[in-house]
This record gives sequence, C-alpha cells and structure tokens, in this order.
Amino acid sequence: MTPSEPAVASHTWVAVPEGSDFPVTNLPYGVFCPNNGSRPNGGGGGRRIGVAIGDQILDLSAAAARGLIDEPSQMLRADSLNQFLASGRPEWDRIRARVTQLLCEESQRGAVERMLIPQADAEMCLPFEVADYVDFYASMDHALNVGAIFRPDSPALPANWKHLPIGYHGRAGTVVVSGTDVVRPSGQRKPADAQAPTYGPSQRLDIEAEVGFVVGTPSERGAQVSIGGLADHVFGVVLLNDWSARDIQAWEYVPLGPFLGKSFATTISPWVVPLAALEAARIAGPAQEPEPLRYLRRAEDWGLDLSIEVDCNGTVISRPPFATMYWTADQQLAHLTVNGASLRTGDLFASGTVSGPEPGQRGSLLELSWSGRDPVTLGDGSTRSFLEDGDTVTLRASAPGLGGTRIGFGTCTGTIRPAS
Ligand code: MN
Repeated sequence: MTPSEPAVASHTWVAVPEGSDFPVTNLPYGVFCPNNGSRPNGGGGGRRIGVAIGDQILDLSAAAARGLIDEPSQMLRADSLNQFLASGRPEWDRIRARVTQLLCEESQRGAVERMLIPQADAEMCLPFEVADYVDFYASMDHALNVGAIFRPDSPALPANWKHLPIGYHGRAGTVVVSGTDVVRPSGQRKPADAQAPTYGPSQRLDIEAEVGFVVGTPSERGAQVSIGGLADHVFGVVLLNDWSARDIQAWEYVPLGPFLGKSFATTISPWVVPLAALEAARIAGPAQEPEPLRYLRRAEDWGLDLSIEVDCNGTVISRPPFATMYWTADQQLAHLTVNGASLRTGDLFASGTVSGPEPGQRGSLLELSWSGRDPVTLGDGSTRSFLEDGDTVTLRASAPGLGGTRIGFGTCTGTIRPAS
C-alpha cells in the first residue's frame, strides 16, 4: 500500500467466493430488477440501485429506505444512478465508506443481511441514463494496425495523432446494457473492386474492446475542465464493446468519421466500478513524445493497469492490456472540454479500442484476423474473420484492488441476431 492509500476494511461478514470479481474492496454500483418474485426486505418491485458484493447485491434502495444510509433527496431510491452520480465526489466517498462499514462490521449484519439478494435472482438494467457519448482512439498499437489495414499507402498514424486524443461523438441512445442482443446492421457498403455501393446486412461485423468512463459532476458551458479534474468529474469505469460494421464504416467514414457503422449498438457492463476502487491500479501512462500542449500535460498518474479478456463463444481470443494506452482518461477529459463544451451527468467517454503490441493482444477482429487474411480459430475448430449470427462476445477485466486484492468488472456481453 502506498502511504496515501486510505485504510481498507478488507474483511466482510458476507461470504465472498474465492476469485470473485466483487470483493469488498470493489463495491461497484448498478441498477437491478429482482426477478422470480424475489422481494428484498424493505423494498417493492421495479428497478433498484445496488452494490455488488461477492455473488450477491446489497439493495441500497432498501438500505436507504430503512435509514441505514443517509442520502440527500432520496437519490438511492431511484431507478437510475444519475442523481447519485450528480451528487459529486464528497458524497460518493461518504456513501462508499458507509457501505463498506455496513458490509464489514459484524454489528450491522443483522440489519443488512436481509437486504442482500443473489445476483442470480436479479436482472441487470442500464445503470444510468447516458447523456452524451464520445469515443476516443487512444491505443497507438490499434491506430497503427488500423492505419496499415485501411490506408496502406499513407503514414499509419495521422499527423495529429500524437498531438491530441482523436475522438468522435457517438450515439448515446443506442448504448445498451450487457446481455442485450445486437441485431446485425444493414447499410451501404462498397467493396474496393466494385463499381458502386450496394445495400444489405453488414458482412464485416466486428467488436471493439474498450473501457468507458462515466461522468458524474457536470461542468459549466464555456469552462474548461483542467487536466487535474478527472477525479472530481468522473465517478467510475465500465467495460464497453463498440460494435462496428467495418464495411459500412470503410465506405462512409471519409471525411467526417464514424457514423452508421457504429451507431447501431454500444454495449456496457452493468456494474460501474468507482474510481476509488481503482486506486491500486493507477500507473503512469506511457511516455509521450513530442510533449503535448500544456493543457494536456499530465499532472497525476491516470494510466490504469486493467487486464482485459475478449471471449468469443467460450474461446478467449485476445487479452488486451489497458496499461499500454497512449492517451489517458485525464487527458481525454481535458481535451473534450478545452473548447468550453460542458459535461452533463451521465456523459460516457470511451477509451477507443484497446490493443497491445502483441498479436494476441488486439482488441478487434479487424486486427486479429488482419482484415480477413488470418482468420481466428475458435475452440470448436471453426474460424472467424468477422462475427456470424449467433456469436456471443464477452469482455471481462480485472485490476489490482486495494489491500492486495484483485477486483473485476463483471461481464460485458452480447449475442448477434440476424439482420431484420
Ligand atoms: Mn471504438
């Protein structure tokens, strides 16, 4: 532990299975709906806010209703995290400390145990109303690979790439929670050797393994968020799959960037892991040469040592290391607001595809199969260059937690359904 790290209660009275993503040092927030008629003590039906602990959920809505947690304006008795996200860093820290106390002090057990429900008896919902959604392009290995595949006759990195975190505004309304099916998109695509585009289902449907940052505290229009503002504005982190139709994308993206090739669906994991749980995962970002402009110069370490896993139909096809990302989240947030654009509670900004330097660390099938030249072999002997109908892709990730623990993110999963 570093001296600045707060004391950690690492022992809970809850039985947490060995290797669980959710030890008491994690405590991610989500929104769930009890099923099978399960009704936790003190609560009704419908959507509720909860915190994951082991393979259970602590019903925070019930705990607040019973007076076990002080909450301004009933923000924990809501059907999304937005009010809680808007409450800001001091409240996030206060409630995290109180939940830790409830789950670690034996004296609380009698009152709190009745508010635990098995995750198996709950359906997870989209945890917050997504305001604006931005996606970056922060992995140099990914950018080099995509440049080599899409633009073989040009320099792989665009001239601006090392000077600013490149991004685009995506479609907030089609961000869905893990477990939601993804219908294969249709659109225009034009093979390089064809005279004219045709319309039809995408034949090059792909994934992008990413990490998403969830904004809580808003900012004023006209005001910049400085490079040191990440922890004040960002509540936590989710896994994100930026599903991408490469054939639609390749034909439409010049000169304004991604549009319909990505806007049909973006999947996020249901549990938002607080930045506070990731203190032990913080590392220096990679050295940057040339040095970026002043507003982008790092003041703190906001690289994150997350190990990601990409699973297709039960076969792990890649292990992208988030630690290699060239641009870090503090730089992305500073860049996103440098023109005075305001932040709203529920804004989501994603890292961009996470790819490491090794072939087994690439975060998209485009790179893994090198645009179809080297198909990926799955456990059943079948091969994939891009996704087939019925394929299920699941992202997982883990990181060093406080007090020598390991924390996880749960799963970010989706299954491809045929074009409608
Ligand atoms: Mn992306």
